[in-house]
Amino acid sequence: MQNHQAFIDAARDVIGHAHVLTSDLDMYAQDWRKKYFGRPLAVLRPASTAEVAALVRLCMVHAVAIVPQGGNTGLCGASVPDASGEQVVLNLGRLNGVRSVDPANNTMTVEAGCILQTLQETAESVDRLFPLSLGAEGSCQIGGNISTNAGGVQVLRYGNTRDLVLGLEVVLPSGEILDLLRGLRKDNTGYDLKQIFIGAEGTLGIITAATLKLFPAPKASAVAFAALSSPAQAVNLLQQMRAELGERFTAFELMSDASVDLIRRHFPASPNPFAARHSWYVLMEATDGGTDAALGGLFEGALERVLEQGLIEDVALASSKAQAGELWMMRENVAEAQQIDSPNIKHDISLPISSIPEFIDEVVGTLEQTYPGVRPIIFGHLGDGNLHFNMARPLALDNARWLEQTQAVNTIVHDAVVRHRGSISAEHGIGQLKQAEMAHYKSAAELLVMRAIKRAIDPQLLMNPGKVVDMGSKS
Ligand SMILES: Cc1cc2nc3c(=O)[nH]c(=O)nc-3n(C[C@H](O)[C@H](O)[C@H](O)COP(=O)(O)OP(=O)(O)OC[C@H]3O[C@@H](n4cnc5c(N)ncnc54)[C@H](O)[C@@H]3O)c2cc1C
Repeated sequence: MQNHQAFIDAARDVIGHAHVLTSDLDMYAQDWRKKYFGRPLAVLRPASTAEVAALVRLCMVHAVAIVPQGGNTGLCGASVPDASGEQVVLNLGRLNGVRSVDPANNTMTVEAGCILQTLQETAESVDRLFPLSLGAEGSCQIGGNISTNAGGVQVLRYGNTRDLVLGLEVVLPSGEILDLLRGLRKDNTGYDLKQIFIGAEGTLGIITAATLKLFPAPKASAVAFAALSSPAQAVNLLQQMRAELGERFTAFELMSDASVDLIRRHFPASPNPFAARHSWYVLMEATDGGTDAALGGLFEGALERVLEQGLIEDVALASSKAQAGELWMMRENVAEAQQIDSPNIKHDISLPISSIPEFIDEVVGTLEQTYPGVRPIIFGHLGDGNLHFNMARPLALDNARWLEQTQAVNTIVHDAVVRHRGSISAEHGIGQLKQAEMAHYKSAAELLVMRAIKRAIDPQLLMNPGKVVDMGSKS
């Protein structure tokens, strides 16, 4: 305890009394899904890279474990401490400057605590696009996005966060500052060190700044909502629309009927463009640098052809930005609707797109046989092969009895994912939630390399311990 007080006093000397919090810490201690509730020793809120480095050195001297935290919207319990009262949360919210914007190089260099939406607006202000876009964009931070290699709704065209990062600045567990802030699209000078920190969930160091790619700002967009009978039709539709629209095609989001029903129940003002109910729905978007009228014409023509070919059962093309926004809002409300409804057993999986129809048939079939009445809330970024494959309880079971089945349901789903050569975590990461699952499904060789990297960079094992790779008994 004495030792802790000495640490807290020293931290206050570094960043000021007001930025070392020791009371009212609940908002930093609990994850977004309210699955994990830790007890931080303190919350440290540095405002510069130098302060982060000084705090990290201090933590190493006092052997205090660090949990980096951005917007705390992560979905795997990676951004909150354990219940020991021995770990500090290092919250990056005050490190939020835009260091430079370079429209000619199509880059911006920004600090880790910048809110994603603010960066989208920064790009817009110089007539550029920063394409990372996800439901939590109003509160997640770019440091968190990079640390989770976030996906979102425009991966189809622009890639994951990893594809949007040209340079990084990282404070290593030693307290050294690793300056990789280069805005280069070509740089073959040995190992690409930044990649190791992207998606590392704060287990290898603290990202303090990044140089990000910008793109020409789209001038026109077209959004449509289509009804289909099966995931196989959705896969065919995706191929056809990509062939018709090429690079213009930016998003292709699948939703099961049960997902749409859930959204409408909890958000009754959601649009309902079709008279009849259908088994599956797809939200699609195309953008380009031309006019809305020209792009709308192309999009409509493509949709007429797929309708004639019987690839879709019905379609509604948004006739205004407001209508397009409402359709997108509906998609973005799925996570919230599940949160309000009843607990789901959730999976964030990816598969080769061609395997998705067979996977859904097979696994939904097995689950329906095992748990009659189970409600599959399946939605996600089909264009990237990424499904949020969530199972709501059969109405005959209460919440507690359904959640008791979590491991059994996970085994059915994840065994099938691995059989189809997919991933048990497509975009949310591992955190605490999937650490055991990852250890079960990854090969011994993969785990060996992961542990070797972790030990080499963080020999005291103080960076976000207990997250991603288990350094305990299997090491
Ligand atoms: C409604 C909703 C919708 C979502 N939609 C998507 C989606 O479409 N796609 C998607 O990929 N995710 C999605 N997410 C998950 C989440 O928003 C992302 O994982 C996001 O990237 C997390 O950013 P954050 O700033 O909140 O990070 P946090 O939750 O604070 O942290 C996440 C991880 O990053 C680490 N970390 C944070 N900042 C740093 C840093 N500066 N340096 C080192 N490590 C750091 C933390 O220790 C933790 O391991 C969604 C979440 C919600 C609530």
